[in-house]
Amino acid sequence: MALRKERLLKNCTGPFFVDSSCIDCGSCWRIDPQHFASSGNKAYVHNQPNGKKEIEKAFLALIDCPVAAIGAPKRIKAHCSSDAFPILVTTHFAGEVYYCGWSSKKSFGASSWLILNSKGNILIDSPRWSAPLAKQIKKMGGVGQMVLTHKDDIADSAKWAKAFCCERWMHKDDINAAPEVENQLTGLDTVELGNSIKLIPTPGHTKGSIVAVLGSEEQILFSGDHLWWNIDKDALVASKDYCWWNWTEQLKSVKKLINLDVKWLLPGHGYAKKFAQGEWKLAIENTLKHEEEKAIRNLKAKTNTY
Ligand code: SF4
Repeated sequence: MALRKERLLKNCTGPFFVDSSCIDCGSCWRIDPQHFASSGNKAYVHNQPNGKKEIEKAFLALIDCPVAAIGAPKRIKAHCSSDAFPILVTTHFAGEVYYCGWSSKKSFGASSWLILNSKGNILIDSPRWSAPLAKQIKKMGGVGQMVLTHKDDIADSAKWAKAFCCERWMHKDDINAAPEVENQLTGLDTVELGNSIKLIPTPGHTKGSIVAVLGSEEQILFSGDHLWWNIDKDALVASKDYCWWNWTEQLKSVKKLINLDVKWLLPGHGYAKKFAQGEWKLAIENTLKHEEEKAIRNLKAKTNTY
């Protein structure tokens, strides 16, 4: 629970606040940028919510926060519902896609997504275990399969799998993090799940990173930590700083996705992004070009120091 005595000074005056336990995961300012922002290493409330709708939005950020660093008075919380998640993101002909909220500290606040599909719902990565969320997902038809994009974002997947008796998918090269997972991808082989979802190995960020693709056109790409959108740079980003296994392989894995027809990018961390026709290919080309130019600059700088 957020502590008033630990309230950060940067918060503006008013009922909502962020305290010093914030881990700077970004969930709050992505879900409610009107009221939450980053100061560089912590979040803060830059604008207090005004009116019922805005308070409900800020309350979503409060629920989503993986470390309960967001505080608000009991009288406000009493008027908000804990049943608001999952939230509809988009409707694709292959299924509705929802943001689950309830981020987990175990995955550093990574996003998880629920796809409603006539052949069985699919959970992409794991939210924090939450009885209100489980109740809502049960009403929506439960979970048939769970996809774990890589070893960092498994969070409470075992509890979710047990609650819904669902089978999990993960790559063999990350399986040490969750050896009980029922189904494994191997090597670079793509797997079709049979409900318009395919899983593509994209080694790099971790050796066993995979992405999930919904649909055959105007696709939705669930990218884990392989790729995300950076709104400051207005660019698609793969990060060398957050590459835990092999950067050269990660760039190869980025290139591998160039011919997809992505309409929505839904990552584990960073911003989601909607693309117009043709923008995806261009975004990948720009990312690869940017990284290539950076590598050349670094090489030149190194050469000049000798
Ligand atoms: S969601 Fe919580 S931990 Fe994450 S940035 Fe916001 S206040 Fe900090």
